[in-house]
Amino acid sequence: MSTRYSQYFQTQETPQSQPIPGTDQVENSAGGFAWEVDDWTRLDRFLILGTEGGSYYASEQKLTVENAEAVMRCIKADGGRAVKRIVEISEAGRAPKNDPALFALAMAAGMGDANTKKAALEALPKVARIGTHLFTFLENVQGFRGWGRGLRRAVSNWYNGKGAEQLAYQLVKYRQRNNWSHRDALRLASPAPFTPTHNALYRWVVASEVMGEREVSRQERKDGPMVVKKYNAINRELLPAIVSSFEAVQQATEAKDVVRLIGSNSNISWEMIPTEFLGEAKVWEALLPNLPMTALLRNLARMTANGLIAPVSDAARMVAERLKDEERIRKARIHPIAVLGALTTYRQGHGARGQLSWEPVAEVEDALDQAFYLSFGNVTATGKRWLLALDVSGSMNCGEIAGMPGLSPRVASAALALVTARIEQRYAITGFSHQMVPIDISPRQRLDDVVNTISRIPMGGTDCALPMVWALQNKVEVDTFVVYTDSETWYGNVHPVQALRDYRRKTRIPAKLVVVGMVANSFSIADPNDVGMLDVVGFDTATPELISDFSVR
Ligand code: CA
Repeated sequence: MSTRYSQYFQTQETPQSQPIPGTDQVENSAGGFAWEVDDWTRLDRFLILGTEGGSYYASEQKLTVENAEAVMRCIKADGGRAVKRIVEISEAGRAPKNDPALFALAMAAGMGDANTKKAALEALPKVARIGTHLFTFLENVQGFRGWGRGLRRAVSNWYNGKGAEQLAYQLVKYRQRNNWSHRDALRLASPAPFTPTHNALYRWVVASEVMGEREVSRQERKDGPMVVKKYNAINRELLPAIVSSFEAVQQATEAKDVVRLIGSNSNISWEMIPTEFLGEAKVWEALLPNLPMTALLRNLARMTANGLIAPVSDAARMVAERLKDEERIRKARIHPIAVLGALTTYRQGHGARGQLSWEPVAEVEDALDQAFYLSFGNVTATGKRWLLALDVSGSMNCGEIAGMPGLSPRVASAALALVTARIEQRYAITGFSHQMVPIDISPRQRLDDVVNTISRIPMGGTDCALPMVWALQNKVEVDTFVVYTDSETWYGNVHPVQALRDYRRKTRIPAKLVVVGMVANSFSIADPNDVGMLDVVGFDTATPELISDFSVR
């Protein structure tokens, strides 16, 4: 009930099209009012969610610029803290992709003050852990600075800081990306070799044709000799064994030679093998026993298309066992989004460009489903009562989480909710747009099926207060509301925090609210001044455990 005055001005019940009086709410992109998260939360959102595909309200370009400006403000405000955060999230494998971290680090290396630049460049080997990362960093950093002494030294340290064996492996495994090769990087940095072996390796990279940016054709290989032009400058005896194995596999003209070489050198990885042999089942059969987890995930379709992974085959069993091996998943830092992406692609039976098609093997699909949950690591059950509420409004259907095709925020939220649902006993999963939307999913369902279910739900407007309003109306007892959303709420006649406080008052349950941000924008429905509310970032591997900790705190 309201009086003539309080109908216009009060703090308990405010339409979402207006700010709650006395707060610092800002207008969101949908014309509703929410809070603006601070730049450090934005940094986290950017590092974890990325900006690929943009959002419903912003193009990829606009969203990227907005995020970069927030990163820049962090770098200016406290460069040391920004670099530390970039390293933390990247090293722990909390983000689906390392690209945002490499971009943010390049910004710090170019735009920070002297100490920040130094810290960023010193952190380079921690964030750029493989050759590909280094190339991405170099392409980014050129947009923010030139090749001064600091950058040359950092890149030199990247190479010199690795032991000879490890460096050789990096050199032959990750040879180019984004128009960069090791030859380019070494020429620009010109490191003083740390050991005679480093010296031999650097000379070999610069002189070797197989380290070029172009795939050498079979005819050119037959025409040989092609491997190294200036033998005399290189002490080949110093080169680690992987170098000659790599050269040999690059010169192979028959698949059986490739198979033989893999058999005699377990260090040969699929990236070292000429493309024309990668369609052959026997080559993959030879690679499989030592295939790293990331490579396994990436090549499931290929190995199924070429017939190696077939129903009831030894290969299918071996692959499934590995995918369900928690220890391996943890060691390889396999990210749940990578698993979910692999599952949604694999089950389609054809690639994005339609060149490759395969018959998905159920054993592999089931294993991927399990791998998804294992890749979050340990999540502690709390015994609390949960309402897991998915924003299924239209805006949640735009953009891609970490650039994964088909993984919209809407679909990804459902998968994330199931991680909590899988370990807790007392929970309900529901959806909302401008009205409540029943969602019939369960952690016993396979994820690809869940994705299908969610994709079929009709879209609508957005009222993020509904989960709390609904729980009160239906006398549902909830300790923790988890709302998976982009916080672009606008429809309701009461703000989400007001609905939560009303719920607390009337039920006498000190209910908490966790807002899982699914888009790298600047908004949140959580009141930063209420200790019973928490902002987390969707698809941070740490998120389910953070939610669980918060709900028992
Ligand atoms: Ca919406």
